[in-house]
Amino acid sequence: MAKQTTPEKKVRVLVVEDEESFIDALTVGLGREGFAVEIARDGLQALAVVARESFDVILLDLMLPKMSGLDVCRAIRARSEVPIIIVSAKGEEVDMVLMLEIGADDYVTKPYRLRELVARIRAVLRRRESHEFVYDSDEQITHGPIRMDIEGRRCFVGDEEIKLRKKEFALLRLLLENPGRVLTREVLIDRVWGNDYVGDTKTLDVHIKRLRSHIEIDPKSPVHITTVRGVGYRFETTKS
Ligand code: CA
Repeated sequence: MAKQTTPEKKVRVLVVEDEESFIDALTVGLGREGFAVEIARDGLQALAVVARESFDVILLDLMLPKMSGLDVCRAIRARSEVPIIIVSAKGEEVDMVLMLEIGADDYVTKPYRLRELVARIRAVLRRRESHEFVYDSDEQITHGPIRMDIEGRRCFVGDEEIKLRKKEFALLRLLLENPGRVLTREVLIDRVWGNDYVGDTKTLDVHIKRLRSHIEIDPKSPVHITTVRGVGYRFETTKS
């Protein structure tokens, strides 16, 4: 595919992928969604491209020739904050906690639907932009119907104030400050409880459950705080 400068500012996606069928499908599919797609077919090529061009998001396959996706992720993260979405194949042994720790923003598993992938891409992009519009001031965080007044230690859903306990408040704040991002159980526990965390690992889940009962319309089918099985939780971004 010919490389060209686009007149309007398109979102630039670097697809790091070695399977031709995926390369073709992504080039066509993401192009149709309005993205400018660039391809790198192995890890070294990816690093070379990233060194000379800038991208809005990188889609990084895990199993690559010459250099693993994990090493590519680490190398890119060492010098850039560009959002990285890791792509793993079904059945591949993947340590998701490790991936998030080395700086990946999200991950998807093959086979995926293009629609799902595009939603993930838009979510990481929104998260990057969110710091520009989420904060009314340093003391307020707003997301969808949820508004937190940090200084006043108050929280509202729509016009209604909800009463949160101290840890619930801290937990919701952390989630809202990282919309669209998977926060691992370890990170949540460390940042909210630190050394205060006692008891079994259920404590976190109990707090999440309470938060959901406050902010979700149907706590059994949460749309704001979703569970990422085996990894942690994510505050979903909405287009509102
Ligand atoms: Ca591969």
